[in-house]
Amino acid sequence: MEKLRHFINGEFANPAEDRWLNVFEPATGKKYAELADGCEKDLDRAVGAALSAQHEWARTPAEVRARYLNRLADLIDANHERLVDAESRDNGKPVHVSAAVDIPRAALNLRFFAAAATQFASESHAAVDSINYTLRQPLGTVGCISPWNLPLYLFTWKIAPALAAGNCVIAKPSEITPLTATLFGELCIEAGLPAGVLNIVHGRGSEIGRLIVEHPDISAISFTGGTKTGADIASRAAPKFKKLSLELGGKNPTVVFDDCAHSNEQWEKMLRDVTRASFANQGQICLCGSRIYVQRPVYEKFLADFITRARAIAPGDPRDADTRHGAMVSKEHMEKVLANIETARQEGGRIECGGERVVVKGRCENGWFIAPTVITGLGNECRTNQEEIFGPVVTVMPFEDEHDAVRLANGTNYGLAASIWTNDVGRTHRLARDIDAGLLWFNTWMLRDLRVPMGGMKQSGVGREGGFEAMRFFTEAKNVTIKYE
Ligand code: NDP
Repeated sequence: MEKLRHFINGEFANPAEDRWLNVFEPATGKKYAELADGCEKDLDRAVGAALSAQHEWARTPAEVRARYLNRLADLIDANHERLVDAESRDNGKPVHVSAAVDIPRAALNLRFFAAAATQFASESHAAVDSINYTLRQPLGTVGCISPWNLPLYLFTWKIAPALAAGNCVIAKPSEITPLTATLFGELCIEAGLPAGVLNIVHGRGSEIGRLIVEHPDISAISFTGGTKTGADIASRAAPKFKKLSLELGGKNPTVVFDDCAHSNEQWEKMLRDVTRASFANQGQICLCGSRIYVQRPVYEKFLADFITRARAIAPGDPRDADTRHGAMVSKEHMEKVLANIETARQEGGRIECGGERVVVKGRCENGWFIAPTVITGLGNECRTNQEEIFGPVVTVMPFEDEHDAVRLANGTNYGLAASIWTNDVGRTHRLARDIDAGLLWFNTWMLRDLRVPMGGMKQSGVGREGGFEAMRFFTEAKNVTIKYE
């Protein structure tokens, strides 16, 4: 059985206490590897390695740091097939998705922050008798904790700016999807990344994750994951005055106005993108739209067309190049999503399509599949419309006018993203102003520019990632005042 080890001080390492966790392939439900279950001793070794490497890495010129990141990106490209297969096997997502999205984006993250390392600049403020300038120095050793839904994509999204800014990193991928991060350790060896600069520790979030958050020599935590976990991390990190970036859950609205389609072509484009926003990656993207509000005059037409599209998405073997809808990441998560659908039924929701576990014939018959599920007949206040489900499950509800749309869109504790479909330019301005979301898309979904601030309002997080926001997060600002004479 394959063993997935820690990557500490430039080499792979067994867990100090010889404890191992099971890793499953979601499409088959079978165990395929064992994962190092990290403990305090493992973390201490990793932090020790990072502290030894820290001084030199912080003083390595930005161009040289950029060269390492670019080399790693090139190695991701060179290992594209292997990483695509690994991500799909580990997470259950179709190879089509890991080939088109996850793996290319991981390389792009590294290239983007390689460029950022060389372009990042600090401010200066000139006065009559003096000048102030801001020194932006690396924080030291930082912790990057990433989730299972976009494993290598979000892992690199965090470690790339941290390394680019001159920090050493202790990274922890999710125990559910540790494979591509482990393979990334191999690429670090091949790229010649100095030992100790990036250390990857595996294990349970509730144990090694917590230890990372509490470790006195780790000065900042960049976390992406659930809101509940984020609250736990904040409560542990705050008394230690650690810098914290929290990218958390969402319950994102998709709002369709009746003016959004002047032609059949536009209507079809909207339907295609709303379907993608609902079910991409089996609905396991924090930016997916899970509450769809449709203006009354086009509600019935939308519902009929949308259900037709949802029904046409058949779950299949993620390895098959034609599959567009793969497995849920774990048995526990599948059961949680199914329990949420049951709650929707009890709340009076009508399941228009999907709603059950699906058996995919052949090699995948024991896999964890749920078909795209569309629910109608629910109000905004019910649990189904308030709690994040994080699966291929959406509700569709009618609304009357712009005021109503804003009220409904803002009617949860989350504020991550919103996708709005309208042809009225004045309305785009008003809704951008009034909807509580860190990311607003008009007539599109998930169109990402890596330079922009990325993050949520309300219970969807604290702080922003992306572009120079991330470089600012991973540096300490010191103001220096020099009097001329
Ligand atoms: P979790 O919060 O369960 O886990 C995220 C990471 O934190 C994992 O590596 C996990 O380890 C670790 N972890 C768990 N408990 C702790 C703890 N007490 N202290 C420190 N680390 C811990 O989230 P999921 O992995 O289930 O990911 C899904 C969630 O992520 C969804 O809510 C989704 O919305 C959110 N998300 C947010 C994004 C954003 O940008 N806002 C983007 C993508 C996802 P382990 O898995 O080993 O337990």
